[in-house]
Amino acid sequence: MENCIFCKIAAGEIPSNKVYEDEKVLAFRDIDPQAPEHVLLIPKQHFDNILEVDGETFAYMQGIVKRVANELGIAETGFRVVINTGKDGMQSVNHLHMHILGGRSMQWPPG
Ligand code: 5GP
Ligand code: ZN
Repeated sequence: MENCIFCKIAAGEIPSNKVYEDEKVLAFRDIDPQAPEHVLLIPKQHFDNILEVDGETFAYMQGIVKRVANELGIAETGFRVVINTGKDGMQSVNHLHMHILGGRSMQWPPG
């Protein structure tokens, strides 16, 4: 999608610090990390948010979460997956992304 920063990152038009990539998805480090490990996982195809994505793509992403968590070394200690959605969800980039956060103890409830 035109003018979508994550579509541009997926296409390699904007550089990113990649953690995992295949033909369907890309995982890269967040530019403003909120934890020692903070990776964004996106489908290369543009979906605005979790309401728009198809189940097959979403299930595929779940498998990649496991893979990324293992690669980051946070699968055993635990981690948080966040999908901000819409205005109240504080979504700032309208291309579906999962935040994978770990490397420290998280707070609950979220602010
Ligand atoms: P949201 O607020 O939409 O859930 O999350 C968007 C995330 O994308 C933020 O955590 C922000 O730091 C990250 N982000 C925005 N622009 C870029 C960028 O150009 N590169 C990278 N690596 N992360 C970005
Ligand atoms: Zn996009």
